[in-house]
Amino acid sequence: MEQTFEPVIGLEIHLQLNTASKMFCSCKNAAGSTPNTNICPLCTGQLGVLPTLNKEAVKLGIKAGLALKANINEISVFARKNYFYPDLPKGYQISQDLHPIISHGYIEVEDKAGNTKKIGITRAHLEEDAGKSMHGGDCSLIDFNRSGVPLLEIVSEPDMRSPQEAYNYLTNLKKMMAWLDISNCDMEKGELRVDVNLSLRPVGTEKFGTRIEIKNLNSFKAVKDALTYEIERQTKLLNEGGKVLQQTMLWDDAKGQTLVMRSKETAQEYRYFPEPDLPPLQVTQAEIEEVKNAMPLLPNEQKKVYMDTLGLNAYDAGLVTQERAIKDYFETVLKEGVQAKAAVNWIFSDLAGKLKAANLEILQSPVSAKDLAFLIKQIEGGKISSKIAKEVFAKAFDTKESIKKLLESSGASQVNDEAQLEVWAKAAIAANPKAASEVKAGNAKAIGALVGPVMKVSKGKANPALLNKILNRLIKG
Ligand SMILES: [Zn+2]
Repeated sequence: MEQTFEPVIGLEIHLQLNTASKMFCSCKNAAGSTPNTNICPLCTGQLGVLPTLNKEAVKLGIKAGLALKANINEISVFARKNYFYPDLPKGYQISQDLHPIISHGYIEVEDKAGNTKKIGITRAHLEEDAGKSMHGGDCSLIDFNRSGVPLLEIVSEPDMRSPQEAYNYLTNLKKMMAWLDISNCDMEKGELRVDVNLSLRPVGTEKFGTRIEIKNLNSFKAVKDALTYEIERQTKLLNEGGKVLQQTMLWDDAKGQTLVMRSKETAQEYRYFPEPDLPPLQVTQAEIEEVKNAMPLLPNEQKKVYMDTLGLNAYDAGLVTQERAIKDYFETVLKEGVQAKAAVNWIFSDLAGKLKAANLEILQSPVSAKDLAFLIKQIEGGKISSKIAKEVFAKAFDTKESIKKLLESSGASQVNDEAQLEVWAKAAIAANPKAASEVKAGNAKAIGALVGPVMKVSKGKANPALLNKILNRLIKG
């Protein structure tokens, strides 16, 4: 009989921190610049130079620790991780080994059944990035711009039980880290890198099976696909009486399969020892408090506040707290005095549609939050119809013109001329006396059948509030 296995998944994340300069020197933290333009004797590993710790990186580490509900350790120790690689000229990377800055935290994710589950964070530590080798043609090139860029490595407990849980963990982690400006988290630029650990064990047992590691994952989807593939492969292997070997694997996204990179025998021994050129890192309670006080609410906390104070439902509140930039845009619209629900509707219908079609992020929106607020207020104030508003919005987005200017110049402004409105209203009543008598009998909704034709004949420009008033006056006398 076929046995059922349970996957045990843990994740290691490397995040490039959003600091102005590198971890131990004053070079610009800009890995993507022209190769080898942000380098100095220190980050190229020359003799006789001493590292100086970047305080901003420490602050970001503390911030991450607070977001992960973890212990911020008052004393942590930098250590040398020794290995040879052409893009690591020092022959070691400065990292943290036995005493990381952060330990024992968690992230909440949704599990298979839709319940909230805590995924433990074993530790997170500060370290420096290595340079970057580029291989092509008959030579290899090295770019040291990335050498010494501050990293935070976040190691989870093996608490995930499905590829989807791993995906949810990554999504939540990225959302939080980007929200707090700890990292840009752009996977394509290597600002967020994921390594996966996986083992299988028979359902109902406790003992861990043999663990494999998967590297070279360039998207969250790749993580999910690689895990799904490996779980299937190992389940089949175990059911056929085979043994899983402890290996490091690579994920080939194009082929949709894992490849063996190296086996246990060639595993690295890093010979860690405390970095003699840096004192132990000390973090005081006052420093932790300072970071805490400057921190915005986390996405899920902000979501709750929006539900409680703005009356948004969970879905809408979730939409506006997806990203920091969306939340900032939304709040700017609100500050102008627009109703929350109207703001959500506009941001996630017209604006989102246009952004998607133009392949833009909300930060790049040609229509500013203030401009959108102005437009919504024109509708709320009954000065333009929503049909006109949509047209003006689209035009503003395409031409980058201000909404105000477009409204003035296009003559899109409303017909507020009562005499004209009355002519249209009378014609509508004459054409549909049934609707008029229903309104008279107290069915307020029936007025829509009269408003429609007037909007049509006025090309959407009749002032809806004024038209309503005039229709009611004409019908009820
Ligand atoms: Zn440097």
